[in-house]
Amino acid sequence: MVRCPYCVESGEFKVMTDAEGIEGRICGRCGHLAMPSNPLFECRCAKCAGLKVF
Ligand SMILES: [Zn+2]
Ligand SMILES: [Zn+2]
Repeated sequence: MVRCPYCVESGEFKVMTDAEGIEGRICGRCGHLAMPSNPLFECRCAKCAGLKVF
């Protein structure tokens, strides 16, 4: 089970659901993508993009 590192729901990190079209998981709240099978994958959601600014 993969959880979104950015979204907390009911005191727990939100569980990410299967993403369509790719072998990964997506957070339905912030759009964060995770692809455990691909370490080179870069998520382009607003949260991850914001982190890269620093
Ligand atoms: Zn999220
Ligand atoms: Zn992201």
